[in-house]
Amino acid sequence: MSKNKAILDEEKQHLADASRVKYFDIVIDHGQGAIITDADGRDYIDLLASASATNTGHSHPKVVAAITAQAKKLIQYTPAYFANTTTAALAKRLTALAPGNFDKQVAFGNSGSDANDAMIKFARGFTGRQYIVSFIGAYHGSTYGALSISAVSLNMSRQIGPLLPGIVKVPFPDQKQRLPNESDDDFSERLFKQFKLPFETYLPADEVALVIIEPIQGDGGIIKAPQKYMSLLYKFTRENGIVFAVDEVNQGLGRTGKMWSIDHFGIAPDMMSIGKSIASGLPLSAVIGRTEIMASLAAPANVYTTAGNPVTAAAALATLDVIEEEQLVMRSKKLGLLAQAFFSQAAKRYTFIGDVRLYGLNGGIDIVDEKGLPDNVATTKLIYRIFELGAIMISLRGNTLRFQPPLVITEQQLTQAFGMIEQAFNELASGKL
Ligand code: PLP
Repeated sequence: MSKNKAILDEEKQHLADASRVKYFDIVIDHGQGAIITDADGRDYIDLLASASATNTGHSHPKVVAAITAQAKKLIQYTPAYFANTTTAALAKRLTALAPGNFDKQVAFGNSGSDANDAMIKFARGFTGRQYIVSFIGAYHGSTYGALSISAVSLNMSRQIGPLLPGIVKVPFPDQKQRLPNESDDDFSERLFKQFKLPFETYLPADEVALVIIEPIQGDGGIIKAPQKYMSLLYKFTRENGIVFAVDEVNQGLGRTGKMWSIDHFGIAPDMMSIGKSIASGLPLSAVIGRTEIMASLAAPANVYTTAGNPVTAAAALATLDVIEEEQLVMRSKKLGLLAQAFFSQAAKRYTFIGDVRLYGLNGGIDIVDEKGLPDNVATTKLIYRIFELGAIMISLRGNTLRFQPPLVITEQQLTQAFGMIEQAFNELASGKL
């Protein structure tokens, strides 16, 4: 029997179903750069990067060295009680890295979810208001707070409600809703009218604490908000004393060809959450926000024993070094153009490829039927065939191929992966799948 199967059969008895989204039957044994190897010794090109959590690739030697050195020195003393040099250095570095020419402070967490919970706390603390506005299609996490502001998966909230009160969800400005020949500005203004509806009918803007948005929705399908819409949204928050926060957990740290996804819009948010890739996949997250907002809550309003743990902080400092030294933001942009060329060329040849959205090494490719409607069955066939051929690529919202390789992927690995995807496309087109 294969080692993969033996381990999975055993694990099935011990692991709760709720804690895994089921895809391929593999057990990952090790990884290096953009390659992961399963328990049977088979290599795969990773086009998922651990859900955008390993932008620096698997086990980057510099990150490994930093983790090892820190682990020898001090694995943990809770930063909630006493400072340590590594976590302190990271706090300083992160405040300098976030956009905006104003004073900032950092609050550490262990996951993207708890960072988003923290943003709800800080916004409520600062404004003294209760309501939170978030967007349909957003994924902000799995804790009660973060889940309450999310709207992307029915199964995530099934059986566990009620969720947090005081959350208002508005439609995300998805380009799909754009009318033929409608300009970006007209489209933005039309959609922004929808955004304003709750405020004109039942929701007093001066009782809203926070607007939180993924400027490019990740799990929602890699969908970028239009420029003008974001400007109108930001202006609205300024006019109404609302904290404007962005979730950069998935799309931050170079993923989109810019350091932060909000950099595409030239806006400096009041607060942002980061996680996933910040420590190359170790459990570390942070909220970086305006000092006056972050100072509005007294201790111990947002402490966790291991938040900002020194080993994860050392990994984060090394991760930021790697991003700089290897120019991963530029690399994401450059290699993203190759991906754009590949997928848009393929879309001309295969009618089942619908909308193609790429921002850096970060893509959502819709698979559709003859009527242009989502084709979940074909999407599943494709990802399983691509897996058989040797690359890991999963789907989003049923019919979107999710393309998020580590930013260190080589051109050769990328070309190889495109070859596998092309073969799967070809087989689907010729009825072989
Ligand atoms: N925010 C975004 C945009 C995400 O994509 C995710 C995870 O996929 C989260 C928050 C939650 O992060 P975590 O899974 O680390 O709690």
